Amino acid sequence: MEKMSFKLELRWNPLLREWVIVAAHRQYRPWQPKTICPFCPGSEETKRKWSVLALPNKFPSLVESPPSPFSSPKPPYKVEKAYGICEVIVETPNHEGDLCDLPQENVKRVIDLFAQRYRELGSKSFVKYVFIFRNKGAAIGVSLHHPHSQIYAFSFIPPRIERELTSALEHFQKHETCLFCNVLKAEKEDGKRIVYESEYMVAFVPYSAMWPYEIHIYPRRHLGSLLEMSEEERSDLAWVLRVVTATYNSLFGFSLPYIMVFHQSPTDGKNYSFYHMHIEFYPPHRDREKLKYAAGVEWGAGVFIYDRTPESRAKELREACEKALRKLK
Ligand code: ZN
Ligand code: ZN
Ligand code: FE
Repeated sequence: MEKMSFKLELRWNPLLREWVIVAAHRQYRPWQPKTICPFCPGSEETKRKWSVLALPNKFPSLVESPPSPFSSPKPPYKVEKAYGICEVIVETPNHEGDLCDLPQENVKRVIDLFAQRYRELGSKSFVKYVFIFRNKGAAIGVSLHHPHSQIYAFSFIPPRIERELTSALEHFQKHETCLFCNVLKAEKEDGKRIVYESEYMVAFVPYSAMWPYEIHIYPRRHLGSLLEMSEEERSDLAWVLRVVTATYNSLFGFSLPYIMVFHQSPTDGKNYSFYHMHIEFYPPHRDREKLKYAAGVEWGAGVFIYDRTPESRAKELREACEKALRKLK
């Protein structure tokens, strides 16, 4: 890998109380390179003979030995070094496809690698949160099409997770039960938003979904991370990830872009036994041809408006799921 100097820092937004990663070097990253794919077997980065692969991100937003900040802010501003690690998980040697197109064993291997990276990165003293995600499709701004996921190991707990942790902790202190287990119970009792159920997982459109075709996958068993999952549960999760992505792809008859995120317990050494891991999908489409934008009300006020109802979209997704299952089996 060529030597690159990182111009990188964390800037604190005192109004929203959130960190922003300022990564000046990232402007040089390639945009959908037309020549050789860096993730195909035999490339300089990947070499040969593998089925799944963890690679360092060549254009990281966080690094293990970050430079000193380049700005020198006065209060109320503050700055920190951008400690962290960014990795890429190349999910298959094949250049095309979605999770549903990979063989079941391959997706299982991807999940095992997620778990192994979660453990390994999470064990580093400066890593408080290991965030696993997958961006798919040009509509999401994916710069490389070879099937891959990404991992950001953060030196802080991201605000969205922090909010879930606070809610889950308060719920636990008040009711001595898990908030997520209760959500699962409510979804199962209602049933109208469930898209697919397997032996160990439930996939549903949340009651208060924000994105039109948002789906969450909850393990039925109360567990904080992939590390607590049995082999059977991981295989089952691999299957359900394939079912959900196949469902999306059969919804409109084209390969649907989406964001997939894993929400797991932080790795800062504290006790998060009240937290329940889950996976969230946010596809940006609201229709065959139309995208949902986070616009004025959504982005400027933080209030999402959901066109139609989560129940009617869930019904559509259930039908797409039935079609997808016939193809998958
Ligand atoms: Zn490729
Ligand atoms: Zn739970
Ligand atoms: Fe979540």
